[in-house]
Amino acid sequence: MAHGHMIPTIDMAKLFASRGLRATIITTPLNSLLFSKTIERSQDLGMNIDLLILKFPSKEAGLPEGCENMDSITSHANGEELIKNFFQAASLLQEPLESLLQECKPDCLVADMFFPWATDAAAKFGIPRLVFHGMGFFSLCTQVCLYQYKPYKNVSSDSESFVVPHLPGEIKLTRKQLPDSIRNEVETDLTKLMKAVVESESKSFGVVVNSFYELEPAYADYYRKVLGRRAWHVGPVSLCNRGIEDKAQRGKQASIDEHECLKWLDSKKPNSVIYICFGSVANFTGSQLMEIAMALEASRQQFIWVVRRDKNNKEDEEKWLPEGFEQRIEDKGLIIRGWAPQVLILDHEAVGGFVSHCGWNSTLEGITSGKPLVTWPVSAEQFYNEKLVTDVLKVGIGVGVKEWVRLQGDFVESKDIEKAISRVMEGEEAEKMRIRSKKLREMARQAVEEGGSSYSDFNALVEELRWRRP
Ligand code: UDP
Repeated sequence: MAHGHMIPTIDMAKLFASRGLRATIITTPLNSLLFSKTIERSQDLGMNIDLLILKFPSKEAGLPEGCENMDSITSHANGEELIKNFFQAASLLQEPLESLLQECKPDCLVADMFFPWATDAAAKFGIPRLVFHGMGFFSLCTQVCLYQYKPYKNVSSDSESFVVPHLPGEIKLTRKQLPDSIRNEVETDLTKLMKAVVESESKSFGVVVNSFYELEPAYADYYRKVLGRRAWHVGPVSLCNRGIEDKAQRGKQASIDEHECLKWLDSKKPNSVIYICFGSVANFTGSQLMEIAMALEASRQQFIWVVRRDKNNKEDEEKWLPEGFEQRIEDKGLIIRGWAPQVLILDHEAVGGFVSHCGWNSTLEGITSGKPLVTWPVSAEQFYNEKLVTDVLKVGIGVGVKEWVRLQGDFVESKDIEKAISRVMEGEEAEKMRIRSKKLREMARQAVEEGGSSYSDFNALVEELRWRRP
């Protein structure tokens, strides 16, 4: 129950429904409000798609009223402490889910990785469970190799780099770039949960991946053939949103009217705007935002900058823009406070680059729109995604973040931000990256068309599910 997981899940449900299958989305009351319009529109288009709602046990797990999404947890003053309660509340959903499965008897349950108990719940009724990690093949493989071989134990400092053993492509990381759960090696509720995730995957029917084969063939093969996982790639799932409304209504209600946003972009030349957004969870400090603002002004680039600030958070009152910034950038820049219609923006020809925190959805959406990236990983598996973008695909430049820091991210100075933005927007290097990105964009589109790799793998998955039907 986080936007980065729910958005592609809804897209996936639409994908199943658009291919003539019946999809039912199970969610909680407040989360359902986020995509009820999308579901209605899909139904109007004749898709067999609907919603089932389970009450979220916030109170039972000691959560404040209204906390049903990671978004509300991370922007809460006691966010860090509430994460544990949040996962506990999620685990209380097992029983009501079982009643629901018994009643509906679906042919398959696709459940997010963070519900490891879903495999057993589905197995009680003979229903196969597919795991959705929300990650690409490269990160899935990196994660397994790190767990298996623990190369980070063989370095003498946090900043000494090591090669990820057995992973194709000589991928180098440092201990600083790893999630704290791996780095600290102390058992916490989160590490226990991750262990349960790994165990549940081995008992599940397989894994469904939001990626396309041509993007990361060596890693798709490695995951299946060497690591022996059953996996189907069905992405990029964001491509199921074809019209303006579909693209604009993904996730939360956008803080800007989509037509106003498009009008602004229409007035700009191709590849002349840099888009900056750090996803739905990262929450930068005022001083970090100030560095970004200074870099944008110094770079002289036109921009759309999405700033996630929250009224409940005291720090939000802190000053984060230089004096007179908004007046000076009036025609050049657009600041969206809150939620942006990201895919709509990225797909516009005026956008020439994307500063991203490398959440998998954003990474894939950037690539699918043919835009080179400035990579600015914050936490989760974002440092692995950065490696894919900069070292494997060569469609991005790192801003120079050194350390994994949950929510707030590692501090980056304005001069480094400015340099990375200029490298992605101007000159020969930028042009070469743009050409590579555009090729990937074409491949992504072909992958989901009839006969494409994702289209075919989706068919293979459905066929397997049909065979095992009683
Ligand atoms: N997103 C959006 N508007 C925003 C922020 C995020 O539409 O202002 C969407 C974005 O397109 C992506 C998802 O939210 O689909 C974020 O997922 P991602 O994996 O990139 O990052 P996370 O939020 O999980 O860190």
